[in-house]
Amino acid sequence: MSFIETPPHGQLEAAAQDSLPTLIVGAGIAGTTLAQLLRQSGQHPVLIERSTGGRHPGYMLALMPMVDRAFDDLGVREAYRARSVPLDRYRVRSHTGRPIRTESMARLLARYGDYRGISRGALLDALTTDRAPVSTGTTVTHLQEDTDGVTATLRTGAEEITARFAVVIIADGIGSTTRDLVATEPPARVDTGWGGWVVWAPPDEEMDLGEELWGTDFMVATYPVAGAIGVFLGAAREHTQAGPEAFVARVRRQVRAPGARMDAALQAVLDDPDPYYWPLSDVRAARWTTGRTVLLGDAAAGFLPTAGIGAGMAMESAWMLARMLAHGTRDGGPDIPSLLSSFEVYQRPRVEAAQDNSRTLARWMFGRSRVWATVRDLAVRLASVTFALGPIRKLLDDLPDPDAAVRRSATHR
Ligand SMILES: Cc1cc2nc3c(=O)[nH]c(=O)nc-3n(C[C@H](O)[C@H](O)[C@H](O)COP(=O)(O)OP(=O)(O)OC[C@H]3O[C@@H](n4cnc5c(N)ncnc54)[C@H](O)[C@@H]3O)c2cc1C
Repeated sequence: MSFIETPPHGQLEAAAQDSLPTLIVGAGIAGTTLAQLLRQSGQHPVLIERSTGGRHPGYMLALMPMVDRAFDDLGVREAYRARSVPLDRYRVRSHTGRPIRTESMARLLARYGDYRGISRGALLDALTTDRAPVSTGTTVTHLQEDTDGVTATLRTGAEEITARFAVVIIADGIGSTTRDLVATEPPARVDTGWGGWVVWAPPDEEMDLGEELWGTDFMVATYPVAGAIGVFLGAAREHTQAGPEAFVARVRRQVRAPGARMDAALQAVLDDPDPYYWPLSDVRAARWTTGRTVLLGDAAAGFLPTAGIGAGMAMESAWMLARMLAHGTRDGGPDIPSLLSSFEVYQRPRVEAAQDNSRTLARWMFGRSRVWATVRDLAVRLASVTFALGPIRKLLDDLPDPDAAVRRSATHR
């Protein structure tokens, strides 16, 4: 990781000299992408992160091509490619374990750009190829907004620091607590009632293949990254609560011939002494902006994993916001509240369309009966993944235009 851990004071001094002093809360995918893009345009945003040391548990990400423009602007597309693998093929297995469909993702997505598998750590590493100061062990405890700016109280260790910013970006993920400091109503949530374990399995001979087994009342998904295969094994929480051993035994009784990849995935869940458990619920904030604060990434709309698009949309939103904020630093540019409100008007329908797609796929994947699984297997055999990916391809066909969004904010001043 190329983060440089630094106490907040140095970052605050540098930001105070900027035309647009900016605070970014959360050094995850969205916050880091935005911070690096703003830094590249000559700003010095203060990037803070609650976790310390070991940071976040690693997991696999399949990244759709809407992320490419952020990599290109940062000049790290090659660093990204070097740390990831192409996901050229996608296969679905039936509830009995039989392969029922293998698709060429390379062909389906070629005209849009890359579709690649990368671990979260490797992605942050690629994004921070240039110097990336971050203050870890630091959170926000209070935000007070007025017409000229936002006064933020930062807590770092036992110390509290108060500082002024022109804009505050809240990018602290699906479980955002900073969102609660500004929200006037609680976010809406969809809880699927499912959850599952996320672990790493060893690499195999098919490192260009993402494979999923949609069971009667469980699912196994496997996605390669450089040097490993990310595994998700999930089901209704009443089934997983007995623990991995009992659950894997149950899956093995139901699926006699899961194939070598799936077999290794199940074994990996058993081998991990402390597998990370992920409850499958999502979050949708009622509003993204107040005047000078804005929610970004999962803090605005946190995704179910079913379409594999949360990080993609988080990076797209960060790219869009960075381009729009660049106008806010220019003389005569639109004011910050107009820019942020226009950002929400443009980006939110896109993000929520992707989130809706994830919710629809969840209803398909998370079955509970053999009859449903049989009908679904038939539908999967007949319909290509093009159908399931329709809403995402629509977003890729019509990428967001920050200049048009800025023009809109200028006319609404
Ligand atoms: C197992 C798994 C698999 C996934 N697979 C895919 C996939 O294949 N494709 C895809 O596109 N997406 C995938 N996603 C979703 C993707 O990871 C998220 O959508 C993405 O990480 C969102 O980025 P973010 O920056 O908003 O949030 P995060 O990346 O979660 O970052 C939030 C950051 O804020 C920090 N933080 C939290 N609270 C505070 C606080 N109070 N103060 C300061 N910092 C704080 C956290 O420590 C974290 O570093 C997956 C998610 C998981 C869990």
